Amino acid sequence: MSKKRYSRKTRIKYTIRRIIFLLIICLIIYLIYSIINGLFKPKNVIIETPQNNNSNDLSYDIVSTSESDSDVIDTIFMEGLSEKEYKSILDYKPTLIESNNKYSFVNYDFERMMHYSELSDLYKSLNNSDIVNLYVIGKSVDGRDIYGIEIGKGKDVLFIDANIHAAEVATTLILTRFLTEIVNDYENDTSNIKSLLNGVKIASIPCINPDGYEIYNYGIESLNNKNLWVYQNSSLLNLDNIKSNANGVDLNRNFPTQNEGLYYKGYNLISNTSIEKTTKSGKYFNGYSSASEPETKASMYFMLKHYKNTYAYINLHSQGRVIYAGKPNLSSSFNDLTVSFANKVSKINGYKVHGLSSEEVGEGNDGSATDFMAELANGFKFSTKTGRLSSSKYKDNNPSFVYKYPVITMETMKTWTKDPSYFKTEYYDFGLRTLFYKLLSKDF
Ligand SMILES: [Zn+2]
Repeated sequence: MSKKRYSRKTRIKYTIRRIIFLLIICLIIYLIYSIINGLFKPKNVIIETPQNNNSNDLSYDIVSTSESDSDVIDTIFMEGLSEKEYKSILDYKPTLIESNNKYSFVNYDFERMMHYSELSDLYKSLNNSDIVNLYVIGKSVDGRDIYGIEIGKGKDVLFIDANIHAAEVATTLILTRFLTEIVNDYENDTSNIKSLLNGVKIASIPCINPDGYEIYNYGIESLNNKNLWVYQNSSLLNLDNIKSNANGVDLNRNFPTQNEGLYYKGYNLISNTSIEKTTKSGKYFNGYSSASEPETKASMYFMLKHYKNTYAYINLHSQGRVIYAGKPNLSSSFNDLTVSFANKVSKINGYKVHGLSSEEVGEGNDGSATDFMAELANGFKFSTKTGRLSSSKYKDNNPSFVYKYPVITMETMKTWTKDPSYFKTEYYDFGLRTLFYKLLSKDF
């Protein structure tokens, strides 16, 4: 029996078929390999949807690689924050103040100015209510306790802080008056506050800059440590409008945000902020490195603790009855939300709203508290490359993940003063009390 022999043509045909079959097998293997290795994942995206919404788990806030806006990084002269320091802020264990006494009503209605130690006692009295949690979230340069106060049992957070600038003490007392009112209301059970506070929570830092508060109100001798920069250089400073902390740093330029240390106009870098403590009030001196100040770190801790559940953030100042809303480096969806919120606030207190254009001249977008909260709202993460919050999606109007809360800077008062009768007028007659109560309702 002779072996069947294929014709040359047929052999070639079979060979080609085998090759095609092998190629298809290779292609399938390659596709499976590619899918596993993320070929189809979008590139250059570092914004990640959180693994969970547990506010105690902050580990996903760090990215180890970063960000593509290297043209910006090259011009940054400030030292960033180290990963170790950032982690120590995330892992900070605040002191929860014990409360063993029965609540007795706290009476403060702007009768007088108070020393910071008296304010501390007032907060401890409020803490006797079961609706209040009082924390020490850090210590100032001169060793004063910085308080974080939570009032309410709900999950959703209204975040308000005050007095980041030394001379703007009005904001501490206005916020303190409001906090005492709602705790009294809650304990009285005579209004709808009880049900509101069972549904939401206020997180507040009533005085970010306690050393500045004391210096402005009671003079430079209030400082315990006479070696501190502000004490040593007090003759050079205008203490009637001091902004800085006791190290001479403007805390509202010290947050590790994308553009800290830089001034932008629109999307164009126009200059660096002051690199020396040269201005009389300490205004605009960022510090020698990001988040160098303990007051900044304390604020960051409390912000990071709460931002995922925040429904509105207000940073209180006291120069001019205006609201700053919008950040040129952030998404239009975020800016729309923020400006619309600011307009609603303005309807109540009559303050003038400044939108994006005001933030483009450096009054923001340069390391402020609102920059930090706004960048967190836009899903920015801490970058170990730049030592600050970063995003590869710089100028991107559609970040893949946005926390939906508005962020505003609210300048209360016509100007700064230490006369509490003006604080009282502002609180009652310029709509602040009405506004704060309304904000407790999430339907605002
Ligand atoms: Zn200010």
